[in-house]
Amino acid sequence: MFLQEPEPTRGDLNFSVLGFPVRVHPMFWLMTALMAWSGGEREQPPQELVIWLGVVFVSILVHELGHALAARFFGGQASIVLYQFGGLAMHYPQPRYTWQRVAISLAGPAAGFLLAIVTMILVGATGHRIEFVLDWNPFRWKKIEGLNAALAVHFLMFVNVYWGLFNLLPIYPLDGGQVARNLLVRYDYQDGLRKSHWISVITAVALAVYVWVDSDGQRMLTVLMLGFLAFQNYQELRSPWGSRNPW
Ligand SMILES: [Zn+2]
Repeated sequence: MFLQEPEPTRGDLNFSVLGFPVRVHPMFWLMTALMAWSGGEREQPPQELVIWLGVVFVSILVHELGHALAARFFGGQASIVLYQFGGLAMHYPQPRYTWQRVAISLAGPAAGFLLAIVTMILVGATGHRIEFVLDWNPFRWKKIEGLNAALAVHFLMFVNVYWGLFNLLPIYPLDGGQVARNLLVRYDYQDGLRKSHWISVITAVALAVYVWVDSDGQRMLTVLMLGFLAFQNYQELRSPWGSRNPW
């Protein structure tokens, strides 16, 4: 379900970037707006939502372009869909070697980290500085003139660094989960798939409990999403054909 492309709708936005066809499903905007609404405990100025939608749109597109460019580098073709679960870069044919598939998975988060670095350089070029501190929000910067610019920088750093790191968790079908699955199946064809689902379940449940306790029940959307991922992987483990015929 997670990796399936949604049906085309009349509300779709279609265009192409660097030769890759891109489709934006209307649910993408709805879910992204819902995230902004669920995360705010204070009064939000209306332009905040517009900046948030813009930043998430650009960031997820850059992430998926990372996957698509890597797939093209290994001789494949790719197309991109932004939908309710974020983004999806479909590419074919699957490259032959495990390391190539792993590289394609890692290229998404890597593109996001690169965008965060570019943001830091641009902020630095205007005479400001972003500092890292170990906290839920690890970025501080000398106040940038204008609320909108400050918000855009804050969102860009948050989405590209945090979502990039989240995506690297070994939970299938996140990018880190795909890496884990590819490596496990490479070294243990019989049992690799089952192991990758177990690692997914354990990681997702442990992190859900941690986020729940650490945030005093606040970050419900993150907890729900981790719970959903754990459940989905558990279902895979129980399905009779899933374990016998992995592909
Ligand atoms: Zn990705």
